[in-house]
Amino acid sequence: MGGDGVLKKIGAIFAAVAAVAIVAFFVWDGVFNKTASKEFFAMDTVISVKITGKDADKCVAEIEKCVAELDSILTRHKTTSEISIINKNSGGNLSDKTAEYFRLLLDVSKKSGGAFDFTLGAVSDLWGFGKNPVVPEVAEIQKLLSECGYNKVTLSGNELTVGGGIIDFGAVGKGIALDEIRSILENAKVKEAVISVGGSVLLYGEKEASVGIRDPYGNAGRSIATLSLADTCISTSGSYERCFEENGKTYHHIIDPKTGFPVENELISVTVISQNGAISDALSTACFVLGVEKGAALAKEFGCEAVFITKDKRVYATDGAAPKLEITDTSYTLI
Ligand code: ADP
Ligand code: MG
Repeated sequence: MGGDGVLKKIGAIFAAVAAVAIVAFFVWDGVFNKTASKEFFAMDTVISVKITGKDADKCVAEIEKCVAELDSILTRHKTTSEISIINKNSGGNLSDKTAEYFRLLLDVSKKSGGAFDFTLGAVSDLWGFGKNPVVPEVAEIQKLLSECGYNKVTLSGNELTVGGGIIDFGAVGKGIALDEIRSILENAKVKEAVISVGGSVLLYGEKEASVGIRDPYGNAGRSIATLSLADTCISTSGSYERCFEENGKTYHHIIDPKTGFPVENELISVTVISQNGAISDALSTACFVLGVEKGAALAKEFGCEAVFITKDKRVYATDGAAPKLEITDTSYTLI
């Protein structure tokens, strides 16, 4: 065989190896970087999941099941849910998981000085947000307010006693869902995922992704800023959600526990970043009630970062959030 023949043979072998490598890469990539996406409605909101990894399909199915189960525990709107039974019996013996949720709610309520109060269910119902909204009589609000209060709730081990009011997980349920979803992802072969449950988002995996902060004056798909983050939870609470107008005045669903009326301060939305979904969700509500200064102090106490947006389009970001924040709508100003 001449030198040419040898070279041709070597070339052919290289070509064959390269072809096998390319095919193997695509097969490998197809299996391990498989992407599955789904949008569905649960917990009174839209849930969207996008997962990349070998177990993507399996995880989507597990997540749907998990959220349905969680909803059937936390909702106040089904008489058979654990929370409804607790409300009916003014307490009870909790499962370990539910006890853990209550511990967190009590902690946020105490540290926020009662700005966060998970016993306001009856007051929220009186307003009828999202259903048949109406401005209630002040006397009615005051009567219900005097009955409720997180400080009338005690948890000893798993034994819960509710001294008044109606327990409502509305401010924290979506964040709890993110924590449960994270543990599904951790127990599977998943590279990265973006999960959003209403205004709460989980960025799973090491790759940085950008999450929009919703335009408080625009529709749900529009954002005014982005946060570029990895491996964390981001929750936003805003007065544009579940609101209604009566006699030219707008009323929204975040209640000031001092008055029983929707919070009236300088804010229009608050975004909180935390490793823990339940904390990010609870704190976004608590910080909204507290306003910029006290809200930022509370976020710091929990080791969280936050972005506050005021009605007049000023943006305040905590030290850790500012470098991650990019304002994309020039009518907003970072202070
Ligand atoms: P969303 O439901 O849009 O995610 P939030 O996380 O801000 O909004 O939670 C608001 C919900 O929390 C209300 O709809 C109500 O169920 C409940 N809530 C209202 N005011 C308070 C409050 N001061 N403390 C705790 N929960 C509250
Ligand atoms: Mg919340």
